[in-house]
Amino acid sequence: MSLYLHSRTVSGKPAAIIAQIPCLQDNYGFLVHDLASSKTAAVDTPDAEAINKVLVEQNWSLDIILNTHWHGDHTGGNKALKAQWGCRIIAPGGEHSKIPACDQTIGEGETVQLGNLQAQVIETPGHTAGHIIYYFADIAAAFVGDTLFSLGCGRLFEGSAEQMWRSLKKLRALPDDTDIFCAHEYSKANADYALSVDPENEALVERARQITDLRAKDKPTIPSALGLEKKTNPFLRADNDDMAARLGMEDAPAAQVFARLRQGKDNF
Ligand SMILES: [Zn+2]
Repeated sequence: MSLYLHSRTVSGKPAAIIAQIPCLQDNYGFLVHDLASSKTAAVDTPDAEAINKVLVEQNWSLDIILNTHWHGDHTGGNKALKAQWGCRIIAPGGEHSKIPACDQTIGEGETVQLGNLQAQVIETPGHTAGHIIYYFADIAAAFVGDTLFSLGCGRLFEGSAEQMWRSLKKLRALPDDTDIFCAHEYSKANADYALSVDPENEALVERARQITDLRAKDKPTIPSALGLEKKTNPFLRADNDDMAARLGMEDAPAAQVFARLRQGKDNF
């Protein structure tokens, strides 16, 4: 896969460029470049070399690194990129001791300014205990790390199903036209599982077809719009009556339905 550059507008005017950089096996690294100030942020650093190459090619300099969580495939490039650019590294408060070269911690409700753009921080524990996501409302983009994937969600390494369900509901409350930039290209495997638990969902069948098509051409399936995820992602539909009924869990709380769905994926 190759680099993708997404242009974003604010009130019809070009405002930002998002670079989506394939890294490692199936990760994406992201750069957000504010056109007004020429400031650039990296969201996670799976591969310093791959990210650096794009910075140089685009003639951008790196001002900030925004980490979503401590896993090595999200922070492994922190030190090398900081050595190269002298950038400031911002990371979730609960995980700073595990995040290389962290300068500043951040948490729920706080914001990061990148030139004219602002990112809101939303805490989404579940995959890791301190996981956060960065939501750029102006350019309708959410960088969700390993919390939400297209048709999937992150594994529960450090949190409970209840916590993760709460986190996903917070993301689900964002506007439908928000593009979800997740950190892995997992959509094909996620689609196979989603179809197994929600086979009659026409929007899902269509999305799965698109994903197969895109992947056959070695194209990314990311980003996807939150509105589409709400209709097709089983993990955002744990409180849907049909979903609960299909699992024989009509009277169960949504968090339990979610737990069953997550367990099903772990063993799929
Ligand atoms: Zn992770």
